Amino acid sequence: MEEKELLSQLNDSQRAAVEYLDGASLVIAGAGSGKTRVLTYKIAYLLMKGYEPWDILALTFTNKAAKEMQSRIGSLVGADRARYLNMGTFHSIFARILRREAAHIGYNPNFTIYDEADSRSLIKTIIKELQLDDKIYKPAGVHSKISMAKNHLIMPADYALDRELISRDIDTRQPAISQIYTTYQQRCQNANAMDFDDLLVLTYILFRDHEDVRRKYADHFRFILVDEYQDTNYAQQCIILQLTKENPHVCVVGDDYQSIYGFRGANIDNILKFSKLYANAQLFKLEQNYRSTQHIVSAANSLMKKNERQIPKDVFSTNAEGEKLTLKPAYSDKEEAMIVCKDIKRIMAADHAQYCDFAILYRTNSQSRSFEEEMRKQDIPYRIFGGLSFYQRKEIKDIIAYFRLIANPNDEEAFKRIINYPSRGIGNTTLAKIAEAARKYGVSFWDVICSPTHFGLNVNKGTLNKLDVFRALITSFMEKMPKVDAFELGQEIIKVSGITADIYPSREPEALSRQENLEEFLSGMQDFVEGRREEGREDEIFLSDFLQDVALMSDLDSDSNGEDEQSRVSLMTIHSAKGLEFSTVFIVGLEENIFPSPMAASSAREMEEERRLLYVAITRAEKHCILTCARNRWRYGKMEYDTPSRFLRDIDPALLNVESERGGMDSSVDTDYTARYSGHTSRYSSIYNQSKPKEVHLTQSHSNQNLRRVVPSSAAASTVSSSMVSTNAGNLSVGSIIEHQRFGIGVVQKLEGTGENTKATVEFKNAGTKQLLLKFARFSIV
Ligand code: ATP
Ligand code: MG
Repeated sequence: MEEKELLSQLNDSQRAAVEYLDGASLVIAGAGSGKTRVLTYKIAYLLMKGYEPWDILALTFTNKAAKEMQSRIGSLVGADRARYLNMGTFHSIFARILRREAAHIGYNPNFTIYDEADSRSLIKTIIKELQLDDKIYKPAGVHSKISMAKNHLIMPADYALDRELISRDIDTRQPAISQIYTTYQQRCQNANAMDFDDLLVLTYILFRDHEDVRRKYADHFRFILVDEYQDTNYAQQCIILQLTKENPHVCVVGDDYQSIYGFRGANIDNILKFSKLYANAQLFKLEQNYRSTQHIVSAANSLMKKNERQIPKDVFSTNAEGEKLTLKPAYSDKEEAMIVCKDIKRIMAADHAQYCDFAILYRTNSQSRSFEEEMRKQDIPYRIFGGLSFYQRKEIKDIIAYFRLIANPNDEEAFKRIINYPSRGIGNTTLAKIAEAARKYGVSFWDVICSPTHFGLNVNKGTLNKLDVFRALITSFMEKMPKVDAFELGQEIIKVSGITADIYPSREPEALSRQENLEEFLSGMQDFVEGRREEGREDEIFLSDFLQDVALMSDLDSDSNGEDEQSRVSLMTIHSAKGLEFSTVFIVGLEENIFPSPMAASSAREMEEERRLLYVAITRAEKHCILTCARNRWRYGKMEYDTPSRFLRDIDPALLNVESERGGMDSSVDTDYTARYSGHTSRYSSIYNQSKPKEVHLTQSHSNQNLRRVVPSSAAASTVSSSMVSTNAGNLSVGSIIEHQRFGIGVVQKLEGTGENTKATVEFKNAGTKQLLLKFARFSIV
């Protein structure tokens, strides 16, 4: 391609940014305005201007982004030239340099890179060795403090002298952090290992202490480009500065509106500071959004008006006006997933779209479960990005291993997985001995621990005792399996096995996400049991039945992460959606307690970061942006009544359509709902509280009172229910409209049987047609 043609594919401001080669430049612009495009074209332009590919260093936020940029440049200048570009994440690029220069900083070139789990386990060991209380010093928490320090280039020696840090540690009753940090760093070095943050810190030190090396790379990289600059941390900025001191040939692009990694040490002020670091930095602003329709851009802008800390921007789109954002409230997380699947099919037909044109974005990973399940049922191919499929996550596999062993004690993999999880002092040596005995006698591991003497298991008395405790534990569950329903037994297993005690005490983000996953898993079990009861399949509600259902999910899992070319719906957290674009975006779970994250509630600064996160989510959409929230959701051990996210109030109401929950079923109620969502003064004032359905339980004879937590904290609901029974049951007739707790709005099509055993066939708005056994069904009559 010729230079002229290249430049003709850019607008005036973009072109100016691309052509500027005289010094440092900064492109600040809203989402979708072509920042990444400017970088891509600028690299192509540099190549046309005589730079060699190896002269150029381009830093991206993810490896995926690097790959995409490289292939785009390949199409502009030819793949064989693009191949030699230095392009990747900070971590990947500097790891390569560190290998080459390892000797300068006392490392061997074949050093290991510790991942999060490695770091944490080392920290755990150190805490033990220093005889510190591991309830106060939790490995994840300690690690995040060390990591924060590293991202700010605070070395162990600096840390020990930093009064502010030390006094903060004393306040949190962790005065030994500094000592742990020092030991940790020594251990890493002794093991010839670097953790993730070291890849930055040690690069910085390498350049700081070895002028010749710094000079070599500063000369080598004749031009440096950085995407998503708003999310770089202090260490990363310092490295860039080290490389561009003499020759400020650096171009960074970013959007302060999209700064969403504050919790990991990124600093929104980076962008503001850039002009101070590079005195003559040229500032470019891009204001035209090419990605999204006008309505999407305006809605995103209206949201951001509620944030105080920002560089004012005026972003516009000349694309079609498009449709407004739509909020689709659901009755439950289950119905939410159904609404999304239904919409995917609707839009595919209307727009001739493909699965890969859709993304489902959520705040936390655990939210993927209900969507995965529904898409499996409906045969919609999907792919989870930047994370594991729900059923592949460690805590879920652990609990399923318990279930498997209980259902089939000969399951060797399950046995191996949980024999010492949670830790009960049964080590690998013992396991090896069990394996040996099992092989020798041709029996299962389980058989061996049931009759250890008989199979000549050679372990000491203490171990024998531990094995017997384990055997008794599993046996007690086995006895309960045919008697209590899967949900109840599942809850008990999680508690009695010690899993609860293992993952609940910690408040670290990682532990919280594991807790959320377990809660979500239990919610799925509850759903399973209730669903079967309602269908009148009361003899299929046990753990073995549940396993059968779930085995299918976990088996097929591998294909959801496959690299094949089939078009798939993308599922990911908003954090991993940065920089991407999709024709249709669903932003799900827009509820208080999910989004904004409850962790942010106490800090205005963090609340602003949450709002920016929603901005990132909305601006991923090209044509359709659909928001959902659910009214009932299982969280922290109970069914919770959720209210819609406060952020919905921040979006200009003129740009947000609120779809009625009852749409199409009853128009008079429609207006009622729409009014409550989109009215002006009392728009969101306790919308859900006003419309709380009266719970109707046709009988109170249900054995499991746990399942009765339908409307928490509302004593009225449960008292109403018994008195409502006769009247409402009598009132239920063909044509009645009901509000079901999980399936939402539906119309009764048929009633069969009498009394307790009445069955209703109900056609739901989003959930299709279901048969419900009234004695178990949870609904109210509208
Ligand atoms: P984000 O902030 O989300 O990372 P961005 O500013 O990096 O967004 P890009 O991804 O570069 O934006 O561009 C958004 C979309 O608009 C892309 O599909 C890009 O190809 C297209 N686009 C940008 N500029 C132009 C242009 N001048 N002509 C045509 N299409 C453009
Ligand atoms: Mg971009």
